Amino acid sequence: MIDRTTIDKVIDTANIVEVVSDFVTLKKRGVNYVGLCPFHDDKTPSFYVSPAKNLCKCFACGKGGNAVHFIMEHEQLTFPEAIRWLAQKYHIEIEEKEMTPEEIAQRNTRESLFVVNEFARDYFVNTLHNTEEGKSIGLTYFHQRGIRDDIIQKFQLGYSLNRNNALAKEAESKGYKKEFLVKTGLCIDSADGNLRDRFWGRVVFPWHTVTGKVVAFNARVLQSNAKVAKYVNSPESEIYLKRKELYGIYFAKQAIIKQDKCYLVEGQMDVISMHQSGVENVVASSGTALTVEQIKLIRRFTNNVTLLYDGDSAGIHASLRGIDMLLSEGMNIKVLLFPDGEDPDSFSHKHNATEFQKYIQDNEEDFIRFKARLLLSDAKNDPIKRGQLIADISQSIGQIPDRIMRFTYTQECASILNVDERLILNESEKYVKRRQESRLEEIKKEREEQTAPSNPNETNVPFPEPEDDVFPPLTEDMLPPYQSYIPSTDREKAEFYIKEKELVKLIIRYGELPFCKITDEKGQERELTLIEYVAEDLQQDDLQFHNPLHQQILLEGLTHVHDKGFTCSHYFITHPNQELSRMAADFMSERYELSRRFEIEPEKDRIRFIVPQQLISYKISFIKDEMKHTQSALTSPEVASNMEEVKKIMAHYQELSQILNKITKRTSRVVM
Ligand SMILES: [Zn+2]
Repeated sequence: MIDRTTIDKVIDTANIVEVVSDFVTLKKRGVNYVGLCPFHDDKTPSFYVSPAKNLCKCFACGKGGNAVHFIMEHEQLTFPEAIRWLAQKYHIEIEEKEMTPEEIAQRNTRESLFVVNEFARDYFVNTLHNTEEGKSIGLTYFHQRGIRDDIIQKFQLGYSLNRNNALAKEAESKGYKKEFLVKTGLCIDSADGNLRDRFWGRVVFPWHTVTGKVVAFNARVLQSNAKVAKYVNSPESEIYLKRKELYGIYFAKQAIIKQDKCYLVEGQMDVISMHQSGVENVVASSGTALTVEQIKLIRRFTNNVTLLYDGDSAGIHASLRGIDMLLSEGMNIKVLLFPDGEDPDSFSHKHNATEFQKYIQDNEEDFIRFKARLLLSDAKNDPIKRGQLIADISQSIGQIPDRIMRFTYTQECASILNVDERLILNESEKYVKRRQESRLEEIKKEREEQTAPSNPNETNVPFPEPEDDVFPPLTEDMLPPYQSYIPSTDREKAEFYIKEKELVKLIIRYGELPFCKITDEKGQERELTLIEYVAEDLQQDDLQFHNPLHQQILLEGLTHVHDKGFTCSHYFITHPNQELSRMAADFMSERYELSRRFEIEPEKDRIRFIVPQQLISYKISFIKDEMKHTQSALTSPEVASNMEEVKKIMAHYQELSQILNKITKRTSRVVM
């Protein structure tokens, strides 16, 4: 865990121009620098770097932020990894938060295991290219499979000699510890006390983590000997959990981002052959059914996944369940079956990248439709099977988080299966409800875990381990407990929501500035900062921000606004919650766009007028919107027959109109 002061130090030291220049050629333009954006296919330089603000931003695709955001995005690292990357560049020593002796020992073990794996990888690669046996057996095999030398090198393919202790002997002679050779699973401790190799007489495929470290190996035997297993894998270890890894992700991540799409295939040979033909956005789960962890890994790069199967694959039915999980993560899933006898491996040897991608584009099919047709052809006219089929499809539809998408699929499947829409709708709603309930449970648990040990006065925010995604994203479910009748889908576009954002923007920019003086109940005069003014003003009308991130900014800012040297912009741009720091960086970047256009009077000098006006107009537009939706809630048929509900809504409406009255009365005094 990295200490918060180290993080601040890294972000303050990292010079955005230097960091970006490592990857992008920059030219000076006025006070800024510009270059071609590395995150999209940029034809005109759209990528701006502001040394004054220490921020960067692409004005075409919107990507950017501070140096950490840039490195995270460009190198596809997690937050702690990016901090480490920059710390290394600037020779900053990382202060770890206090670790227990066990934690230190565990970390050292993990590092040692990676070191041993890297040694083994180099050993296997060397054996393939520089020994007679390696060349005549291993290399010949890869060449026969049609794999080019550059691809063999790229994937670091290797060979293990046909002797059961060749690696063990080499490793021990080089001083690698027995303990780690056994823990990685490269060697096995045999009864006579000597080490034996796990992989021998095989070609070897190393498995890389998303950052390129070797976590495991998979080895294939070449002689057709019925007595030994065709494939041997590394066992799970402290660094290798099968369910967390995808073959090829390290080599695919950039291409997945660029194309905003990931192909999922069954075997590692498929991945390698597709790379060779020029299709690089491809990973394999290699034999196992997809796991939630693997899906989350793909989701770091894209929401669009196409599953590629060979036409007669036995794997299709088995993997249907796993695909429901992809749906529940809100991903867009398509399926493609290759014509009989072809698989991604064979197909990519016959076609170049353009042909391959065109073939997929023309033939991929939406997953739900695919599943409906597949099951329908199984069920034929068997009534029991057809009943099961409807339940099955409804379950898949019920996994989709987006209501409108669910509705579209319901209609389509009803027509494919030739049944009444309502049948699928009723059935799928059961799953929707179940999912929402378990999600609520999860949130409750997360909240309990978060609030239990933490001390509200402590500024250090705990960091997750590098492998985990940084901070769970805040969702609609976690909205403040505000009773609102505005459908959450309408909020993003609502006028009040946009105004709320404008207010938060002002808080990020100027929150800590002295704003006005008030006299409290004890008759004492006290100065309010801008953020305190906004908070008190909202509280006066029992209102709070609707976007949980906005609310978090308000609350955290209030806690720290009197800390020495505190500024909202610095605090939030360097915030460990990535969603939050990105938002802050975004709000800060927009300023120089604006100030270039409106240089008549700096915004900073006008905040005393802007803020109260913004607050009023925010509140009025929210309350009017809320009243409108409250009214229409009253007229809905379910509510009309329920007197309790009617009373509740009426009371809410009354309350709103009172607040509105109060505000309009005050308005005449404030607005000039
Ligand atoms: Zn861009």
